Amino acid sequence: MSIQNNLAQFKASIPENVTLVAVSKTKPVADLMEAYHAGQRVFGENKIQEMTDKWNVMPRDIQWHMIGHVQTNKVRFMAPYVKLIHSIDSLKLLTEINKQAKANNRVIDCLLQVYIANEETKFGLNELELENLLHSEDFKALNNIQIVGFMGMATFTEDKEQIKKEFGILKTIFETYKAKPLKNCNLSILSMGMSGDYKIAID
Ligand SMILES: *Cc1c(COP(=O)(O)O)cnc(C)c1O
Repeated sequence: MSIQNNLAQFKASIPENVTLVAVSKTKPVADLMEAYHAGQRVFGENKIQEMTDKWNVMPRDIQWHMIGHVQTNKVRFMAPYVKLIHSIDSLKLLTEINKQAKANNRVIDCLLQVYIANEETKFGLNELELENLLHSEDFKALNNIQIVGFMGMATFTEDKEQIKKEFGILKTIFETYKAKPLKNCNLSILSMGMSGDYKIAID
């Protein structure tokens, strides 16, 4: 199936309030351009260098999302253009993003990555760390970042009930914080689901 048909069919199958982030890591620019010409504008990358190389040569109306683990010393390369960073799991990283956003005279939208999986290997904040971060004075003092939501990755398993439970936990955490007035927060995005579990995430 062509990228164009594939995209059209996929978009018709998802609700309107769901955004498809086309994960384009390791794919060549020619493939991304095919998706671009088919109307895709949101792309997700997991390495800052690769994303920046693509940003440099591709149309400026693309929204670049960083979905991978971020190294503090590379934030400055994406600070001029990144649309959304999905994978923030420390105040240290957030502070660096704030610094680089300020240097670029902008506010960068960020998602906090919340640990919901039943695995040792996934990055993210646990519920207590999330609570502490959002209420810390150092966080409240930042002026060039905005937390627009949370991201979570479910356990890599065939067990759909387990995945559903984990996404459900994240949804509950999201709704709880959404209802509270918090400095630097304007929660509207829940980033969940990959190729294997996006249908559960949408539900
Ligand atoms: C590759 C990647 C995805 C997407 O995975 P698919 O299973 O290919 O949809 C999501 N999140 C991160 C951090 C990734 O690196």
